[in-house]
Amino acid sequence: RQDANTHEEKSVAQLQLSNPLPDVGQVHKEVEQRTTFDLPSEGSDVTLADIERCYEIGRLVGDGNFAVVRECHRRDNGQTLAVKIVERSKLIGREHMMQNELSLLGSLSHPRIVRLVAHHHTHTHSYLVMELVSGGDLFEAISERGTFSEAEAGLMVSDVTEALNYIHCKSIVHRDLKPENLLIERVAAGICRLKLGDFGLAMVVTEPVFTICGTPTYVAPEILCETGYGVAVDVWALGVILYILLCGFPPFRSRDRDQEELFQLIKQGQIHFLSPYWDPISEEARGLVRALLQPDPTVRLTAEQTLLHPWVKAMASICRQRALTDKAQKSTADTGAEPDRVQRLVETNAAETCTDKTPGHTSSEGEITHKEQSRHDERQTEINTERRQDDDKPPQIRCVIASLVLAAILDYLYDDTDSSCFEVPS
Ligand code: ADP
Ligand code: MG
Repeated sequence: RQDANTHEEKSVAQLQLSNPLPDVGQVHKEVEQRTTFDLPSEGSDVTLADIERCYEIGRLVGDGNFAVVRECHRRDNGQTLAVKIVERSKLIGREHMMQNELSLLGSLSHPRIVRLVAHHHTHTHSYLVMELVSGGDLFEAISERGTFSEAEAGLMVSDVTEALNYIHCKSIVHRDLKPENLLIERVAAGICRLKLGDFGLAMVVTEPVFTICGTPTYVAPEILCETGYGVAVDVWALGVILYILLCGFPPFRSRDRDQEELFQLIKQGQIHFLSPYWDPISEEARGLVRALLQPDPTVRLTAEQTLLHPWVKAMASICRQRALTDKAQKSTADTGAEPDRVQRLVETNAAETCTDKTPGHTSSEGEITHKEQSRHDERQTEINTERRQDDDKPPQIRCVIASLVLAAILDYLYDDTDSSCFEVPS
């Protein structure tokens, strides 16, 4: 596999920190201010040795189409971060992707968006230093879990929508919203919060955009119709993600992995809630899926409206309450606090909880095979080879993973066919 594991990266070594680094920082400085390292952040004037002097670069935490992401530690204060390493020769003709990521992500500051801390450039590689979001990404979680309860899915939708609302208010469209680019922060027992990452395709949109880009499974009909599009394409992708979270396969899929067929289905925009997979799922959740996957972008919910959707509010609230209960119980266990105090705490919080329908859907292991993306198929190969130690997993999960490996191999062999293949369980 060819990626940023070149001589440069492989040679990451144990250099001593000779000059202590100034503190990069407390949160949320503008890009210019983030470059207060003793390493220059612009141009190509640092060496790998300079970078190694400042950071200890560790284990692989992810890879994408253009980058590998590794955990790293600042040598001066031990702070744990992530570094996205991009081999610039891979970006020839796509240099704007790096610029987007630096300028747009660097200007953002939101709890549901991954924070860019610093960036450094050698003559061959760029290093984007970010906060580490340690729970893996949503693609991996879907591969492991298959489906999610309505409460879990609702909280995820709420998190992503908060991030979208924030960027859309700044007229920024992400254009590559998909599970791989949603990073998981595990909070209380079983509760995942999401952060939006990978701003490589993001742009400021001041007038309709016509460039066709994105990932087939998640691409909005207006991108394919070439009528011009805007921030609403992200809301469409969120609708696709919500559909997948609830049933384990995507709303538009071509059995023969025919990209043209897939695009036709997306343009037709007909959503089917296949039985039995959708049987346990509430009408409120289906209503939100329909409103997000509304083919007409002018009628589609906006991010702001999605945040106010009763199902989203109710589900997010249930999860917050669960997190609180979990915390309270932990603190009881730790401190020996009286159980009825914990109960009161939960009850007080419950009084603020919306009373919409409680989810009746429980998670099940969906037998999915997942293959998507327009540019490469390396990711799936990676997920199922280097990145996982699966031997300790129960047989059901191993079976799902085996089908993922198979899908990845097929993807690799049929690189020019799409793509959008979570397959419907049979
Ligand atoms: P690409 O532009 O190549 O797609 P991404 O920015 O999406 O690169 O990163 C690739 C993968 O690395 C992601 O899918 C995710 O699994 C992981 N990743 C990215 N950023 C972080 C981070 N800040 N913390 C932890 N993992 C990350
Ligand atoms: Mg990515």
